[in-house]
Amino acid sequence: MTTAPPPSRASVVGPATIDLAGLWEYAPAPESVKPRLRDRYGLYIDGKFMEPSEGGYFKTISPSTEQTITEVAEGTQADVDRAVAAARDALPKWSSLPAIERGKYIFRIARRIQELGRELAVAESMDGGKPIRESRDVDIPLAAQHFFYHAGWADKLQYAFAGRNPKPVGVCGQIIPWNFPLLMAAWKLAPALACGNTCVLKPAETTPLTALLLAEIFDEIELPAGVVNIITGAGATGEALVNHSGVDKIAFTGSTGVGKRIAESAAGTGKKLTLELGGKSPNIIFDDASIDQAVEGIVQGIYFNQGHVCCAGSRVFVQESVRDEVVDKLKRRMNQLRVGDPLDKNTDVGAINSEGQLATINKYLAEGKGGGCDFWQAEGDVPSSGYWCRPCLFDNVQPSEVIAREEIFGPVLAVMTFRTPAEAIERANNTPYGLAAGIWTDKGSKIFEIASKLKAGVVWLNTYNKFDAASPFGGFKESGFGREGGMHGLRAYTQLD
Ligand code: NAP
Ligand code: MG
Repeated sequence: MTTAPPPSRASVVGPATIDLAGLWEYAPAPESVKPRLRDRYGLYIDGKFMEPSEGGYFKTISPSTEQTITEVAEGTQADVDRAVAAARDALPKWSSLPAIERGKYIFRIARRIQELGRELAVAESMDGGKPIRESRDVDIPLAAQHFFYHAGWADKLQYAFAGRNPKPVGVCGQIIPWNFPLLMAAWKLAPALACGNTCVLKPAETTPLTALLLAEIFDEIELPAGVVNIITGAGATGEALVNHSGVDKIAFTGSTGVGKRIAESAAGTGKKLTLELGGKSPNIIFDDASIDQAVEGIVQGIYFNQGHVCCAGSRVFVQESVRDEVVDKLKRRMNQLRVGDPLDKNTDVGAINSEGQLATINKYLAEGKGGGCDFWQAEGDVPSSGYWCRPCLFDNVQPSEVIAREEIFGPVLAVMTFRTPAEAIERANNTPYGLAAGIWTDKGSKIFEIASKLKAGVVWLNTYNKFDAASPFGGFKESGFGREGGMHGLRAYTQLD
């Protein structure tokens, strides 16, 4: 046994020469951490895992291997009834708890997410296909950050709404998509709990795992029963939750099509509603930008999380004078991206989330190839099983083409050009969406001028896809309404006198 102090994390990066005995948690292969999973997960209702009322279970698979990870309960109307009833029963106690106590529970959730970060990251990458580097360094830390941030708000709501009397809305029905499963759960639950509401959360069908591990965390930290209920299932389960008369507020993140249906069904019911929907965000590269940085920003904008990102920079507008340089450098960089096993820490682009999503992407690729633009795809092999799409782009795209207008939600970029700033703004805003935008330039004055004219909820300047719990996120137009995160995000979960 050595008496030397353990090496710092930074010094344990090489594989062979350092004795790692007893230090396995610092070893350079965090992907070998095995999440502790059950063979089957029931529904988490009233503080307990329960059998689904009709006894149905479905498999959640790994999209990189197509193998079953575990089985998950299929929630039906009767289960949604039970969950909403549990949330309603828990509401008076939770909402009247001293705010500082509510904050402590939320703080404990955040701490436990941090402590279990490695396991959660592996579970997230197994279930959804995203690279472990992203789960480990982005999704899970940001989920913890979101709970920490809102733990701080719990006893300070009167400062967020000065002169008003913020009260909880009641029972919140929350529906999340599959692209950032744990992070979206955190975005929904943390502000709702901080404001004294109780929740029923419906994770996406293909990525229910980390929400169920979160339920175990609630159990561990002894969150009062019924404060958060987790109902797994498919679209019908979500629909039952949305239409339930015992729900006071609906928070939905997902596709614009489903969002529109939810808005129709909520109309006239008195339910509060926030929608975080799709996007087709512009990433604008001016000729005075640092081109190498801009190329990195394009890659981060569209190939991060296989392009399964609502705010992905899926339309790039390059100023004509630097078009060739940008496209050449971009292709070179795309060829360096490693596509493959999500659990390999060197992987840049993981598996497409599901067979269905791969079919959608392939449909768009066929459509684009049949049009007038040039298709280019990064070279390389992909594993023989699982769902894969190597990073690709369409060049010389006309704004009227389908691949330039519709959200593909995959690693597919549309490259277009512009001559003047006015043309860049006009083309960038020419979309039914309005979620995000990126601007790459060396000139501060240009940044402020362009940003003020873009119709987008978030505008990134010389960076892309950066998130922070203190920063509100949400869209304009068909990208939805309401904000999540920051002080603005609290508004959706409060009633004001
Ligand atoms: P989706 O089909 O709309 O599904 C989202 C969630 O809604 C899932 O939990 C889904 O369950 C559930 N659902 C499906 N039909 C429903 C219905 N009729 N009533 C209630 N719930 C229903 O979207 P997706 O294809 O999973 O996700 C990708 C989309 O989400 C993209 O368009 C993307 O832009 C958008 N998105 C937006 C944001 C944002 O913050 N703005 C963030 C992430 C994703 P099942 O999974 O079981 O079908
Ligand atoms: Mg899965």
